[in-house]
Amino acid sequence: MCIEIVYPDGGAKVIGYARYVMECHLGRRLPEHEHVHHINEDPLDDRLENLKVVDVADHCLIHHPGYISQDFVCPVCQVTFTLNPYQIRQIIIKRSYGSAKTGPYCSKKCSARGRGKAMQIPVKQRYS
Ligand SMILES: [Zn+2]
Ligand SMILES: [Zn+2]
Repeated sequence: MCIEIVYPDGGAKVIGYARYVMECHLGRRLPEHEHVHHINEDPLDDRLENLKVVDVADHCLIHHPGYISQDFVCPVCQVTFTLNPYQIRQIIIKRSYGSAKTGPYCSKKCSARGRGKAMQIPVKQRYS
């Protein structure tokens, strides 16, 4: 569903209803690079609790995770390890929910040790 909105400064734009709901909620306009994602992936479910602001690159990955594995360097032990597309997608989904702020790590052991470290390797780095 799309609606046309007119901003107080005179600008007008046709945007998706989900985007409108989120802009009202935040009290600001969303810049181009911020998309509104439907958490349950139902594009007709425009309830606020089903909406999440995500960066356009993350958004692309959520819906089009691709079929490539990627290498990561563990921030704890510096070992290089490979995640398959499914694992990468899980991380992106977790990040879109606000968890998984650090890592990814090579193992559960490193994950436990890395907690609290701010190190973060962007998952979207090698994807365009
Ligand atoms: Zn989405
Ligand atoms: Zn490690």
